[in-house]
Amino acid sequence: SSKRAVRLSNSGSSKPRLIDYQTESFEWSSAVLSILKSTFKLPSFRLCQEGVVNAALDDRDIVCVMPTGGGKSLTYQLPAILGNRGLTIVISPLLALIWDQVRAMKDLGVECVMLTGSTSKEEQNEIYRRMESGSGHNGREIRLCYVTPEKISKSKRFISVLEKANTAGRLKRIVIDEAHCCSQLGHDFRPDYKKLSMLKTLFPRVPIQAVTATLSSKTMPDLLKILRLPPICDGRAANTSGTVFFSSPLYRPNLHYSVISKPSSSKASVEAVGSWIREHHTGESGIIYCLSKKDAEVVAEALREWSKQSIKTGVYHAGLEDWQKEGIHKDWRSGKVNVICATIAFGLGIDKGDVRYVIHHSMSKSLEGYYQETGRAGRDGKDSDCVLFYRGQDASRLSSLVYQDADGPSKLQEMLRFAEDLRTCRKVAFAKYFSHSAHLSASAWDHSETLGSSSTSSAISVCGICDNCTREPDSIVTMDVTLDAWRVLKVLQVVQREQGRLTIASLADLVRGLGGGTFAVIAEKGKKRGAADDKARVDLDSVCGGKVELNKEDTESLLIHMLLNGYLSESYHPTAYAVNVYIVASSSAFRLSRLTQSEVESGSIATKIECTFPAPKTKAKKPKKQKVSDEFDGSDDARTTKKPRAVKGSK
Ligand code: ADP
Ligand code: MG
Repeated sequence: SSKRAVRLSNSGSSKPRLIDYQTESFEWSSAVLSILKSTFKLPSFRLCQEGVVNAALDDRDIVCVMPTGGGKSLTYQLPAILGNRGLTIVISPLLALIWDQVRAMKDLGVECVMLTGSTSKEEQNEIYRRMESGSGHNGREIRLCYVTPEKISKSKRFISVLEKANTAGRLKRIVIDEAHCCSQLGHDFRPDYKKLSMLKTLFPRVPIQAVTATLSSKTMPDLLKILRLPPICDGRAANTSGTVFFSSPLYRPNLHYSVISKPSSSKASVEAVGSWIREHHTGESGIIYCLSKKDAEVVAEALREWSKQSIKTGVYHAGLEDWQKEGIHKDWRSGKVNVICATIAFGLGIDKGDVRYVIHHSMSKSLEGYYQETGRAGRDGKDSDCVLFYRGQDASRLSSLVYQDADGPSKLQEMLRFAEDLRTCRKVAFAKYFSHSAHLSASAWDHSETLGSSSTSSAISVCGICDNCTREPDSIVTMDVTLDAWRVLKVLQVVQREQGRLTIASLADLVRGLGGGTFAVIAEKGKKRGAADDKARVDLDSVCGGKVELNKEDTESLLIHMLLNGYLSESYHPTAYAVNVYIVASSSAFRLSRLTQSEVESGSIATKIECTFPAPKTKAKKPKKQKVSDEFDGSDDARTTKKPRAVKGSK
């Protein structure tokens, strides 16, 4: 390919020289290409790999954001083995990741070692000796040394070996893989990563290269601060100081995103997942992410049973022994297991290209997490599905897990907004979320860069393949739900006065008139919970002139909508075993709840509330009633009977 090789140098000496690492030619360029072909056996670079390699060889501090499977490893492995001298340290969070990479490097004939908890004393001493002296018994210098972050934070010996190598001028570069683990604001924080602060202090002249697939507006400045890196300059117009920043299109055009509404009973939800797999990916590899270890086990077992063993499932979570984890990895690679029901412990470092689908049985705690987890599908570039089975009431369970984290609740809200959104292209939604950062421009989501278009428009093109892009226009309907929202708030006034406690699901039932208007209240002291008189009652007709005329799913959607828009909030009640999350009216809802019913119904108020729901199913397709175990799964299907008020044309 013809390189532009433009040198953006300025004739005036007042401005610093700008370097375009991605397109310029450098003295090492031909050596780089020959190593790419001979050692790595790859025909060409991908995405921003070449720019990162050039910046690395120019001894720059680097932050590089590239999608999962994009090929981040090459950006530090290649510079590590080019030239004659020097050691590159790679800090990586997981043993499995390290093993895979070290094995791959050794296969390519690279002098590569690892130091982990399972490295024997003798082996470790030999490695230290070679690092200090620059060679070993075979006279070959170590090029790459992989370590876990604990080595940096806990081993004085290791640090002193690094200091010796550095004094001898042989410490070439320090790489921080999965660098988002540094930031507490991210979704995958690891305390030992925070201690990597010491690196720049100990080795101010040694360049740092931080690579990751996810970095948001909040985590980027935090990352720079923790690693003590200088301010960012862009890798396509880098001046001679500062951290060089690279990002590749984060959007992966082979991933088809969709959100599917999840039945409320666990049995029915497993059936929905199983049917979906059968219909779309029989016999193919996939991952089902579950919220907890127990969920992963339960879902795997239920799926096995439901499919009469035809869907071969395995389980992976942090509670397994190492040998069990290895076993499941092996079975999955060999096809003995099709689908792994896993917690997010399964992920970092999965090197399986043909994962045809990633299902979320429960949504992630943040959109970053969701992006990262779904990114494990389709690494071979072939079409793959990312399906979120979503139900509003899942929000409560997640809330109880994240409510104490600094950004936990707000990140969960963004995830919820994504799940509830039936209109915005999923790619556009991701782009909006990630490009809140000044450094991750919205264009990171378009392939204009790789397609060579010079479009500078900030508008992001839609993907055309997600559920929201491919939806029939009349399959969703936007309704004025102001009166329903008002009823919810009126009911909550009574509930709060009686010290009632309602989850999203129980509030949805209550406002729909199920359960005879009764709701649970805080038990009096000394009384067992669940005693008959731990209940109060609300008379919907007198309190708010009737019930909410939406079906169960839509009512839960309405509640989530009210939560996301500040009408409702959550209140957290830690017990000995769990944290219960109850729904309360927020103080800003007062402007709506103080109105009378006729004021609301007159439609003259300033703030109308609108929600988009799936359109009513046609009569002919009315599904057969399933026996579900839910307490209040009413037999009324409001969708088939309701006449929507003020139906607005859908897009
Ligand atoms: P990441 O760390 O960004 O998730 P990896 O570095 O593990 O991704 O690379 C993912 C896969 O892509 C590997 O199998 C690797 O061999 C392959 N790969 C990397 N660079 C290239 C390239 N330029 N061309 C083709 N394949 C590549
Ligand atoms: Mg990687």
